[in-house]
Amino acid sequence: MSTPDLVIHYNLARFEISAARLDQCPPDTGAEVAFAGRSNAGKSSAINALTQQNSLARTSKTPGRTQLINFFSLNIEGLKIVDLPGYGYAKVPIAMKQHWQRHLDAYLQHRESLRGVVLVMDIRHPMKEFDEMMVHWCEATGVPLHVLLTKEDKLKRGPAKNTLLHVKKTLKERLGDKVSVQTFSALKAPAWTSCASASTAGCLKICLRKTSTTPDRSLNVDKEKPRP
Ligand code: GDP
Repeated sequence: MSTPDLVIHYNLARFEISAARLDQCPPDTGAEVAFAGRSNAGKSSAINALTQQNSLARTSKTPGRTQLINFFSLNIEGLKIVDLPGYGYAKVPIAMKQHWQRHLDAYLQHRESLRGVVLVMDIRHPMKEFDEMMVHWCEATGVPLHVLLTKEDKLKRGPAKNTLLHVKKTLKERLGDKVSVQTFSALKAPAWTSCASASTAGCLKICLRKTSTTPDRSLNVDKEKPRP
């Protein structure tokens, strides 16, 4: 009898479905890691680098899909990457932002399959309000967090290292071994390997374990101030 392939081949990731609401998401039976980040942080580029496919992120960038939750299946049945809408997308009306905030909250609150979060931040602008909110949510729920400090190439080595150390120290104090942090550049050729190995270590392997559930998984994004 052949043994199933348990190695994740990110390059085999395939777009599965876009969901505007929780009830449009695929069945809540597998395990998934969600990529979150402020708009323009570099989330699509990171997903592209990880999966070595430019077309995947383009799927998420298709007009009309930017505010949707996009699901990508992996080669292991039941495992998924989820691309959450970029927070603070400038070109959408405030009503639409509030609409997706409610659905993001619903997704985070109810999605049993969610086993890890990859939070993408521009290394030059780390820990903004949305990032803080996601960290707080991970802290409250115990869902593991992997932080990608992207666009490392935009900073000199010294400042990039200082930011990495600072973010790592701050988050370790709050999340202990449930958080990992790395710098990242989508422009560097082997970026996908570092992203894949770190994401795998930080999050996707944890998919296979069950995280403890806590009574309140609400992000409470509705309570956030409206963004300018
Ligand atoms: P998203 O809105 O978070 O999905 O961000 P994108 O992946 O679309 O990236 C936003 C902009 O930043 C684009 O112009 C990308 O080419 C650029 N970008 C993304 N990652 C990097 C990176 O690692 N280095 C540099 N220099 N630019 C990047």
